[in-house]
Amino acid sequence: MIRKDILDLFRVPPGEPLKLKDHNPGWAQTEEMQELGKDALKERARQILDENLADLERAQDLLYAENRYAVLIIFQAMDAAGKDGTIKHVMSGVNPQGCQVFSFKKPSDEDLDHDFLWRCSRCLPERGRIGIFNRSYYEEVLVVKVHPELLAAQQLPVTKFGKKFWRRRYSDINAFERHLVRNGTVILKFFLNVSKDEQKRRFLERLDRPEKNWKFSVADLAERAHWDHYMRAYSDCLAATSTKWAPWYIIPADNKWVARAVVADIITTTIRSLDLKYPEVSAAQRERLAEARSQLLAE
Ligand code: ATP
Ligand code: MG
Repeated sequence: MIRKDILDLFRVPPGEPLKLKDHNPGWAQTEEMQELGKDALKERARQILDENLADLERAQDLLYAENRYAVLIIFQAMDAAGKDGTIKHVMSGVNPQGCQVFSFKKPSDEDLDHDFLWRCSRCLPERGRIGIFNRSYYEEVLVVKVHPELLAAQQLPVTKFGKKFWRRRYSDINAFERHLVRNGTVILKFFLNVSKDEQKRRFLERLDRPEKNWKFSVADLAERAHWDHYMRAYSDCLAATSTKWAPWYIIPADNKWVARAVVADIITTTIRSLDLKYPEVSAAQRERLAEARSQLLAE
């Protein structure tokens, strides 16, 4: 797989209508992948993940040393699409000091008393760090769009929640992200695209295997009943908020290893493209370093 191709293959082009139905959640994404076959592809995906983990570790070290950019990585998906596993595997090699993960569940009363970006903006990564959002302000145009009754708790000054309302939310998100990007935050957004069949299989596994029971929630089944509505909300959201400055990537997620390898590849390629450098040492600093060295040796 060639990295640039991978980025282009899964990136959502800005300003174009989109139907998730046209995006295959399966593993056979390219001719090359089909030729490899499922088992060989899994092996190859593991290798790619490993190679990327080593690269990512180096890239993160540079990011931290240069202290100019922050990287914000957003994960959105239906339940059981593999957000947790992807985050765990992809970030397994990075220095915990330079990385933070926040999960956004149902908003608290304090969250609801603020604008819809507030709780996430408090968790943004600082320069030099990678910040991961496991769900995010995008829930505000996804679960909230599927269940507009949730808006009542937000005490908004508007009362009409038609197309214009959602268009404004998309446009506020785009403006917020552009502001962040202009100030040095690189934004990557991943939608883990799992099929309805595969979700059923994973739910059944959670029910059938005692050690996985804790992962199952009856509420997840209730949300599954709204599948088509969610797909429409996701399609509209991805089309409206994939921008040049903060693109969405639709990641085929029916095969966990393929999803993890593709996500890792996109993250590393993006960070490496920043052309990061270790801070330069000036002649005066170098002289001080030499003095310190002689001092230590003379002890
Ligand atoms: P897991 O199930 O793997 O622990 P999860 O992200 O599904 O991870 P849950 O506690 O099961 O975590 O679900 C969180 C729920 O909170 C989701 O159903 C999500 O849609 C909901 N949620 C997140 N943000 C908002 C929001 N702004 N408004 C309303 N609901 C939200
Ligand atoms: Mg859940």
